[in-house]
Amino acid sequence: MSLNVANIRKDFPILSRKVNGKPLVYFDNAATSQTPQQVIDCIVDYYSGYNANIHRGVHTLSQEATDKYEEARLKIQAHFNAKKSHEIIFTSGTTHGINLVANGFSSLLKKGDEIIVSALEHHSNIVPWQMLCERTGATLKVIPMNQDGELVMSEFDKLLSQNTKLVFVNHISNALGTINPIEAIIEKAHQVDAAVLIDGAQACPHIKPDVQALDVDFYVASAHKMCGPTGVGILYGKEKWLNLLPPYQGGGEMIAEVTFEKTTYADLPHKFEAGTPNICGGIAFGAAIDYMNAIGFDAIANYEHELLEYATEKLLAIDGLKIYGTSKHKTSVVSFNLEGIHPYDVGTILDKLGIAVRTGHHCAQPIMDFYKIPGTVRASFAFYNTKEEIDALVEGVKKAQMMLS
Ligand SMILES: *Cc1c(COP(=O)(O)O)cnc(C)c1O
Repeated sequence: MSLNVANIRKDFPILSRKVNGKPLVYFDNAATSQTPQQVIDCIVDYYSGYNANIHRGVHTLSQEATDKYEEARLKIQAHFNAKKSHEIIFTSGTTHGINLVANGFSSLLKKGDEIIVSALEHHSNIVPWQMLCERTGATLKVIPMNQDGELVMSEFDKLLSQNTKLVFVNHISNALGTINPIEAIIEKAHQVDAAVLIDGAQACPHIKPDVQALDVDFYVASAHKMCGPTGVGILYGKEKWLNLLPPYQGGGEMIAEVTFEKTTYADLPHKFEAGTPNICGGIAFGAAIDYMNAIGFDAIANYEHELLEYATEKLLAIDGLKIYGTSKHKTSVVSFNLEGIHPYDVGTILDKLGIAVRTGHHCAQPIMDFYKIPGTVRASFAFYNTKEEIDALVEGVKKAQMMLS
């Protein structure tokens, strides 16, 4: 199960461009992934061949677009192993999916109820719950983390009670790369009848989640982190939960019948898909899933693990470099700082060398507060990256250290 990375790289036109006169080294995959020609072609085909609004037209283009869009939903259903296709709701991305669920729970929670989130969350998985608590009088509890960047599961056990109604945890932390023990979290939460939403934005580029095996209640993801376009994602929800939640937005497509006296809502999934969706994006999301499955998630995971070990070893050999997030269970993310040097300055010098990394708090300020740092430099690897590129990063970091200290 080895990857032909040289061939894979040919699928990504952007990887052959230069930045500041240097070959691009793209290590910001945890923020967004690059797009293979197969997905770009799919987008071009849509706009040049059958661009039309879906579900409403009798004309040929509209039917073609509808068929492709619903085909994409089936691909996504198969990929996540959802029991039913209408359990897959198209969204504009992870953030939208989380807000949809948080909003829906407004009518299901009351004062005294508790929501548990983790200390490793992305802001998009903290703020909607704080807003939900303000609306309902429920309280937010936080599973703490340890120095390795892992959740302290014994503390989770103590937080769980009959008052716990919802648990929200990311599958993989975008800031540190930690893979959270979501199987155990889901099982324990279900013992007190709490619903569980897993933020899979960071996991789906590396892992193929099986929502039925996980028995998870809600799972959200974004296409743009797994070789698809921006502005589209999915919410998976168990049918019984999606039927229970009220619609999020009113508009076209989500209704069964409208009079000024009363409106009845459409069946799933349309109840949650008001207005014209990102049709092209949904279809291209399907193409991205096809692309990644053709490469194979086992091969991707193995190769990325190799990159992670290689980068960790080479970076740790640099004096004064500290890595944050040292769990044994992590994906190909290396968050680090050079002693006495601001991460932003390191990122700026790396960019001059054509190396794209992220610097800052990575939308996870509570994690930075925990380590008492302003942020980190984050290099995140994908299956199209190489060890040579990691060598370039290591040289760049050494250069930055020399220039800045
Ligand atoms: C990227 C990311 C999000 C937000 O995804 P959007 O596509 O911006 O909505 C949420 N959670 C995690 C863990 C992420 O990595």
